[in-house]
Amino acid sequence: ARRNLVVGNWKLHGTLAGNHGLLLQLITNLKGLNAIDFAVCLPYVYLFQAQQLLAGSNILWGSQNVSQYDEGAYTSCISAAMIAEFGCRFVILAHSERRMLRLEGHEVTAQRLLRALEGGLTPIYCVGEAQAERDAGIAEDAVKKQVLNMLHSLDDDAFVRAKQCNMVVAYEPVWAIGTGQHASPQQAQSMHAYIRQLIATRDPAFAQRVRIIYGGSLSADNAYAMLEMPDIDGALLGRSALVAESFTEICRIAN
Ligand code: 13P
Repeated sequence: ARRNLVVGNWKLHGTLAGNHGLLLQLITNLKGLNAIDFAVCLPYVYLFQAQQLLAGSNILWGSQNVSQYDEGAYTSCISAAMIAEFGCRFVILAHSERRMLRLEGHEVTAQRLLRALEGGLTPIYCVGEAQAERDAGIAEDAVKKQVLNMLHSLDDDAFVRAKQCNMVVAYEPVWAIGTGQHASPQQAQSMHAYIRQLIATRDPAFAQRVRIIYGGSLSADNAYAMLEMPDIDGALLGRSALVAESFTEICRIAN
């Protein structure tokens, strides 16, 4: 019943000329696919370009972060309202590459989540355990803490917004990101079901509806096995999002 969602996280990649080619190819390739949603999350500086090219297509777009501030003397920050002006639907939050570099802790991420929701954006909130946590047998505990932090940072008004905008959760085991070593479909399925169960403690109906997507070395080769799992509702792609053929193939599989 949940509609699959495939999102490309471009990370620190792109050029005006390269993006142009890639986005036009995606527009052509993805034209007939209407049983799923797909989006690209680009560096801020390319959002204007994405808006120009993708408006009127069936491809949505978004940013990879947002400031915890609305406006003021905050050099280099980009607000939710600014992102919204460029037509963004999504914003990736709490990505492990932000958490690991110790650029953002829980408090800051919680503020960013609230700003994104107030700004009318749909957060894609990332959670996932580190290798050491999986090795120690505490992968579920680590993810539980992150999911509960996320839920606790939402007061009732914010939770209503999260439901209205169809907030997305992404399970990205840190050890699977950029390593070529994806989680097994069973490992991912079991964690997705667990995350859904945690969300159900706050709102059982939303838990059934919320899309929980998988990220970490997902490719056209393993996409089918992952996406056929009952609680995996799509994919958050890094490297596979940068090649039109791979992104297209994964979207076809998800469709
Ligand atoms: P890779 O697909 O390159 O492993 O990256 C996953 C990711 O971090 C998406 O946010």
